[in-house]
Amino acid sequence: MDDRTFRNAMGKFATGVTIITTIADGEAHGMTANAFMSVSLNPRLVVISIDEKAKMLDKINASGKFAVNILSDAQKDYSMHFAGQMKEAYPVEFEWIDEMPVIKNALANIVCNVQSKQIAGDHTLFIGEVKDVIFGDGTPLTFYEGKYGTVVS
Ligand code: FAD
Repeated sequence: MDDRTFRNAMGKFATGVTIITTIADGEAHGMTANAFMSVSLNPRLVVISIDEKAKMLDKINASGKFAVNILSDAQKDYSMHFAGQMKEAYPVEFEWIDEMPVIKNALANIVCNVQSKQIAGDHTLFIGEVKDVIFGDGTPLTFYEGKYGTVVS
């Protein structure tokens, strides 16, 4: 199997879209991610997967904390911006929960402390212990076969 075959097969898994945020050296940093999963209820744990090439990796290693911001379908521009896919400058205004930057009007903001991590190939899995959550109503932004979409009911 070549890399394209593997990627195409993985792209058959429809996901939501999140922006992972953290703060390191007093500066907020955000990154689009769809490798997110709820792991455990007791204790409350989630997992994210960060590429070894992403700047986010050193930042979470330094801060020991991150937030997962689940995007609504009105926030595709945010997803593209935080994936480095926007050509023009994009205005970003963070909100703050427990001194952590989070994305305003996301469907949910999930604030975590890193509980443990596991290097897995070219990614690092961070298990986060959930400290705070805020959530609201809306329709999720989705990602399937490399394209954005939404949920049609
Ligand atoms: P950069 O590339 O420097 O930052 C990303 C973008 O965010 C830049 O445009 C930057 O200007 C902007 N930005 C960052 N902080 C701020 C700030 N404080 N204020 C304003 N703008 C800011 N990669 C993974 O490792 N794991 C995944 O699960 C994953 N899932 C993805 C899902 C989708 C749908 C997409 C499109 C991409 C995904 N990626 C994932 C790729 C990842 O989003 C990009 O590689 C990203 O560019 C990596 O960010 P970085 O931390 O290296 O920082």
